[in-house]
Amino acid sequence: MEIAGTCDICGKPAKHLYTCSKCGRHVCAEHYTAEGLCTICASKKKPTSGPASELIIPESAKPTTVSPKDIKH
Ligand SMILES: [Zn+2]
Ligand SMILES: [Zn+2]
Repeated sequence: MEIAGTCDICGKPAKHLYTCSKCGRHVCAEHYTAEGLCTICASKKKPTSGPASELIIPESAKPTTVSPKDIKH
């Protein structure tokens, strides 16, 4: 049996290795997705609530400016 190398994810010797188009890992068929990515990159690609959405401050959270005439004594 011809061994091409070992999978970078599971470490098992594989007859055929695939190269992830994103990270360049050499992975076995088990860890290679149809998208051309390894399973690690494929799982990272999933849309999640990243830091970008956290930067959006809702209008209600912004500090409101109180004009002096509204302050009652
Ligand atoms: Zn593998
Ligand atoms: Zn990858």
